[in-house]
Amino acid sequence: MQETSIYPHLLAPLDLGFTTLANRTLMGSMHTGLEEEKHGFEKLAAFYEARAKGGVGLIVTGGISPNARGRLAPFGCELSKFWHVNKHKAITDAVHKYDTKICVQLLHAGRYSYHPFSVSASKVKSPINPFTPSAMSVRQIKSTIKDFAHSSKLAAKAGYDGVEIMGSEGYLINQFSCVKVNKRSDEWGGPIENRMRLAVDIVKAVRKKVGEKFIIIFRLSMLDLVEGGNSWQDVVTMGKAVEAAGATLINTGIGWHEARVPTIATSVPRAAFTWVTEKMKSELSIPLVTTNRINTPEIAEQVLANGHADMVSMARPFLADENFVNKAAADKSDEINTCIGCNQACLDHVFKQQRASCLVNPAACYETELTFEKTNNSKSIAVVGAGPAGLAFSVYAAQRGHKVELFDRMSEIGGQFNFAKQVPGKEEFFETLRYFNKQIELLNITVNLNSEQSAAQLAAQGFDEVVLATGIKPRDLAIKGINNPIVKSYLQVLRDKEEIGKKVAIIGAGGIGFDVATFLSEEKSLTTDVDAWLKEWGVDKTFKNNGALSKEHVDHQPFREISLLQRKTTKVGAGLGKTTGWIHRATLAKNGVKMIKGVSYKAVTDEGLLIEVDGKEQMINVDNVIICAGQEPNRDLYQELIDADVSTHLIGGADVASELDAKRAIRQAAELAASI
Ligand code: FAD
Ligand code: NAP
Ligand code: SF4
Repeated sequence: MQETSIYPHLLAPLDLGFTTLANRTLMGSMHTGLEEEKHGFEKLAAFYEARAKGGVGLIVTGGISPNARGRLAPFGCELSKFWHVNKHKAITDAVHKYDTKICVQLLHAGRYSYHPFSVSASKVKSPINPFTPSAMSVRQIKSTIKDFAHSSKLAAKAGYDGVEIMGSEGYLINQFSCVKVNKRSDEWGGPIENRMRLAVDIVKAVRKKVGEKFIIIFRLSMLDLVEGGNSWQDVVTMGKAVEAAGATLINTGIGWHEARVPTIATSVPRAAFTWVTEKMKSELSIPLVTTNRINTPEIAEQVLANGHADMVSMARPFLADENFVNKAAADKSDEINTCIGCNQACLDHVFKQQRASCLVNPAACYETELTFEKTNNSKSIAVVGAGPAGLAFSVYAAQRGHKVELFDRMSEIGGQFNFAKQVPGKEEFFETLRYFNKQIELLNITVNLNSEQSAAQLAAQGFDEVVLATGIKPRDLAIKGINNPIVKSYLQVLRDKEEIGKKVAIIGAGGIGFDVATFLSEEKSLTTDVDAWLKEWGVDKTFKNNGALSKEHVDHQPFREISLLQRKTTKVGAGLGKTTGWIHRATLAKNGVKMIKGVSYKAVTDEGLLIEVDGKEQMINVDNVIICAGQEPNRDLYQELIDADVSTHLIGGADVASELDAKRAIRQAAELAASI
């Protein structure tokens, strides 16, 4: 391995025999939604080109089906016809301007296809899809193998350096390889040798079609994390067979989509699953790629230096910062905009059939639409409020050449992110603040902390523009007894660290209500203790049971009695993130938090909170009632500034507080900075 001084393992080339990868970074497959948009491939080309320019060694595209039945959705993307080739060429040409290789991921969704023509090994419905698949006939299986080979040939014609065959995450090949879905009694079902036949025959057929000098990555499900998943011996048998069939690299797959173990959310410890790739390393001789929750060059380097894998796959970190590799190589990892694992703008969008982007980088997947060109009309701009909206605006506007002065009444930048970062499992929010602090320094943005601004002060300073990013005020409630000292706002809990009793009722079960309940019920964060975290979520590294699920129950003694309340009669937490809400609910349930819906608040007394549910009054005896009941915009300065004829803009919570989150605050800030 060639030594480089900084990140010697991560930045070392990888010789695959017929081709060499520039370094050990693989940008993992991400469906962006652009694949199905009109003119989407031009935008995709710009998206991938930016990552290639940023130094990534190997890119794997979002999953594309080799045939119509395998499409993820009715209008899902397919690579099966000669006329598909040209639009892919736009991508490969753009990427090949740089020393980056690119593979297309071939993904047959099987029973995860969201349409009525889905197929699988057997007629077994997935719990996360309303459509029941039909069982594939032997003829259908054989023609699917041919479709993979044909698609690979088209991929080569389109200029791709290879393909990744998606064999994990519970998609078709994984459905065949596990008894969970494969109930067949013919040569495609039964023992592992039969269940893995589809995978092996696909790899063989692809290799035969594309020749030796073409990368074939096989994504192997090393941890199924579902009942009916494979044993370790089965996984090894399959890995060896796929290697013998002609794979160039084996990538690690962790957990089916329906698994009830978090695999990539922010509360998952960094590099929590690389041990399974290490376990496989002694069994195989081709290079292995490891993955999941690796989001900094330091962690990636450590994983490789520890011998857990030969390459590191990171997907979302390349949405957050396209220049991840180049910044690492220049010893500027403190300038990287780190993926915080929130899923809010990427996976949650994809699951709602929206275009993916990134909470911390709203230009991701909008490379041709949201740009920050140098201005030839540099203005002096005051930004009031150094929360996510004010910070993002300041950085983008300063990058364009405006002279920005930032004010905040607090003693540190960050706004509400300073409260979010304290919630167990949300420590990644520190990284966003580290990033903004560094950008402020690099862009010479003047920051005035402990500096509450009035409209008169701002007007007197003669700025060309004032941007109000003053955030929100917690909503006041008109409940009888609300002024009782047992009532606290979430700010008194998270900001002022006031002492809170053992029995608590929380009014409001939105994102903040859940976070406050987590803050008060989790004894300690497990994000730096992989083994404790795996135990907590029932993952057994020794594979005593198939699928690596442990049957041991972790007993919890809740140290607080907490009731989390909402007026709506829908499921508590229904409005949380599509891909992460269940994790928050499961965490609170484990800590014994009672979630009550359909509540009317009657009064607060010295004994606690009087509520009515289903027409019956009940007293919840508590030491404290905590208000997490949403927010109102904090924009007191706005009218006065307008009246004083100051050009003033509102962004973030100061503009609209309802359904505000950092994703919206940062995007709105970026859009204003791009146009001001
Ligand atoms: P704020 O973050 O509220 O910032 C406003 C800033 O303005 C503050 O720093 C304030 O001090 C300053 N200010 C106000 N008035 C003045 C003045 N007159 N002079 C000077 N300074 C002033 N969002 C997500 O997307 N994902 C999450 O996981 C998430 N978790 C959260 C967890 C918690 C516990 C909390 C409280 C919030 C969370 N949020 C989350 C919400 C997110 O933090 C907010 O949507 C976001 O911070 C709003 O950004 P903003 O810049 O508009 O306002
Ligand atoms: P929110 O999500 O809008 O929730 C407010 C809660 O208060 C709701 O449960 C609502 O439910 C209740 N409520 C509203 N008006 C009320 C009233 N007058 N009296 C009593 N209850 C009332 O807001 P939030 O929790 O303050 O969060 C703010 C934003 O930060 C959210 O938009 C959220 O997206 C974001 N955030 C996100 C995360 C995350 O993990 N993604 C975490 C934290 C915060 P009922 O009306 O049914 O009672
Ligand atoms: Fe990472 Fe969140 Fe951006 Fe997705 S939206 S890439 S999880 S920071």
